[in-house]
Amino acid sequence: MPFNLVQVYSGEDSQLVHFSQGLVCNHSLSCHWRGQIGLDKGSRGREIDFTDQVEVFRQQLELAKELKRPASIHCVRAFGDMLEIMKSVGPFPAGVILHSYLGSAEMVPEFSKLGAYFSFSGFLMSMKAQKAKKMLKRISMERILLETDAPDALPNAALDSLFLVDGDPSLSQEIYAQKEGLASNDQSPAPRDSSALPKETLNHPANIHNVLVYVASLLDMSKEEVAELSYRNALRLFSYEGSKVPREM
Ligand SMILES: [Zn+2]
Repeated sequence: MPFNLVQVYSGEDSQLVHFSQGLVCNHSLSCHWRGQIGLDKGSRGREIDFTDQVEVFRQQLELAKELKRPASIHCVRAFGDMLEIMKSVGPFPAGVILHSYLGSAEMVPEFSKLGAYFSFSGFLMSMKAQKAKKMLKRISMERILLETDAPDALPNAALDSLFLVDGDPSLSQEIYAQKEGLASNDQSPAPRDSSALPKETLNHPANIHNVLVYVASLLDMSKEEVAELSYRNALRLFSYEGSKVPREM
């Protein structure tokens, strides 16, 4: 095992150590890709020096490549930097997942050449529909994935189509009751879609159905077709050597 890399960050809380354990651990399915790596210039990410982020990201990416594992990559407002780093480390024959992808259509061919898969969650709905459609249409069908990103990424959808998380501390009893249609005597109008919910509302994994419907509509495909192709793509990607995911049937 190439633990020489880990020695660079030898502290117990090192991101690199945790990540490498996730990559080599075979105890459970989730263990293989529990951690995301990446770059973040968003409000939370800005608290971590970007030069440090780049250094750790590059090493984690090299480690994933060496171990032939499909790393899951998180990126917020740093797609240009990410592409440059991935070009210098890649290609990635075992694949890499651009999780909750919100990059441009123009970058799609460049990431694809490196072996990337493009994964979509409820965050896709924060992008203008025309832009999202243009980007989706550039992706080859073998590279599309869907993900929950729960408890983040609550899809923007009609409230009656959404699953709420039981006991979500950001939601009042009234909202649960309104959703269940139990508050008909209540004067306040029931919220109709997720924009009426507090922004910290937790996402339930079952809401991936809304993402499926949305992606299918932008691709002018049926949801059955998109569900099938994303399932096949996930099987191919996660059935790497040493994985517990069975090869495609
Ligand atoms: Zn993320």
